[in-house]
Amino acid sequence: MANRLTKIIATLGPASANKKTIKSLVAKGVNIFRLNLSHGTHETVRQWIQWIREVEAEHHSYVGILLDLQGPKIRVGKFKEGSIHLKRGQRLTFTTENKVGDETLVPVQYQQFHKEVSKGGRIFLDDGKLSGVVKQVAGKRVEVEIQTGGKLSDHKGINLPDSKLSADPITAKDKADLKFGIQEGVDLIALSFTGSAQDVKRLKGLIRKQGSEGIEVIAKIERKQAVNNLEEIIEEADGVMVARGDLGIEVSLTEVPVVQQRILRVGAKHSKPVIVATQMLESMIENPRPTRAEVSDVANAVMDCADAIMLSGETAVGKHAGAAVEVMVDTALNIESYLAGTRTIEPWNKFFEGEPTINAGITYSANRMVELLNASAIVVFTHSGGTAKMVASAKPMVPVFAFTPSLHRARLLNLIRGTVPIVVEEDKHLLLHMEQLIIMLKKRKQLKKGDRVVITTGIPVGIPNWTNIIRVEEVP
Ligand code: ATP
Ligand code: MG
Ligand code: MG
Repeated sequence: MANRLTKIIATLGPASANKKTIKSLVAKGVNIFRLNLSHGTHETVRQWIQWIREVEAEHHSYVGILLDLQGPKIRVGKFKEGSIHLKRGQRLTFTTENKVGDETLVPVQYQQFHKEVSKGGRIFLDDGKLSGVVKQVAGKRVEVEIQTGGKLSDHKGINLPDSKLSADPITAKDKADLKFGIQEGVDLIALSFTGSAQDVKRLKGLIRKQGSEGIEVIAKIERKQAVNNLEEIIEEADGVMVARGDLGIEVSLTEVPVVQQRILRVGAKHSKPVIVATQMLESMIENPRPTRAEVSDVANAVMDCADAIMLSGETAVGKHAGAAVEVMVDTALNIESYLAGTRTIEPWNKFFEGEPTINAGITYSANRMVELLNASAIVVFTHSGGTAKMVASAKPMVPVFAFTPSLHRARLLNLIRGTVPIVVEEDKHLLLHMEQLIIMLKKRKQLKKGDRVVITTGIPVGIPNWTNIIRVEEVP
């Protein structure tokens, strides 16, 4: 079977958080699970993590865990019936009082809400699927006229594009959730509503303070400010997510594809993985088959060489979680096989600015070597993940077999396009044992006789981000 290059992230939720479904999603091709702390309690999420780890061991593969911190997201509270139905033209009350909602009352879980909205201001609900306008503010009660109606269920997000919100992206809840995540050994943390590189630095500082350097930070790009500070955020973070839900309200909807393109380009330039997220197969929450437009959206992300594509509601609350993963897998494989025959890597000068480092020159040349020699794979040895990330950032059309001594690193490499992580014992003389490793890949049916393999690594072994050797082997 062809090695899929584009990674798949699936969000767990009530529709999928059981061991059987987790197992089948991994078998279908999920590389990383996202756990959104906006919705689950520590107790339930702890159980999910345990199931993922069990499935990972049983499946003999590596599965990453991405913990998504809620950040200062404004949400509605709970409704008596779990949801209500809003109609265009209808007026109803949003309140910050601690109440259970019904057809005429929407509780809001943000104490400043009534102070930060004003008459005429727009209110968007559930990633902008529903909307309304503020008609009147009286104490803690805000009267809203609905403009776009639909179903509004428990805990859906609220966006107020006309209000100036100054909330800190790391809330008290996030700090507690972070501590929980570190204790539970998650691999990646996603920072919602990142505004600047400073926000990322602060989160990294908090992680370090808990003695957990290895956890990587994904900055979610979903605010205008983050779009403006894109370059510095990408430099500071370990990866970024195009979080199109909130982004599509913060910037105009038709600007989102442009922002997505920019993020992909800047990500590749800095060798940082990019995740494309939100509503990729949204209609599959209800329907067994996606729309043509949704498949095209997934296909375009694959053509643009995103590192990972993500499912949110489709797997968290959708009726067809497994089918959604299958659609992503099939789309990725089809597009990648098309690209394999047409795509060449970008010219050097489009890729790096200024005087290139030795690492950059070697990893780029390894990619050129693959094209020149029609090689079937790249092999790297990586401790910090740096060599794998650099090789992958030229977006090769062949798999990158990444040998690493660390299980945590192997899980993290699951986010890097094309990378197939393999844990091996620490070996100072890896290059001498190259033949054994290649035979192992052949036994695993990942290479066949006569395949050419481009190997790149650093000598001496063990120096982070040190890559100075390219070697080519033919599978015996
Ligand atoms: P974010 O802004 O962080 O993406 P979100 O509210 O959009 O938060 P997603 O994780 O993107 O949440 O999931 C999409 C939808 O699936 C949410 O609106 C929510 O209703 C539902 N959902 C996700 N996880 C859960 C969960 N654990 N329990 C209940 N509903 C969930
Ligand atoms: Mg979302
Ligand atoms: Mg969000």
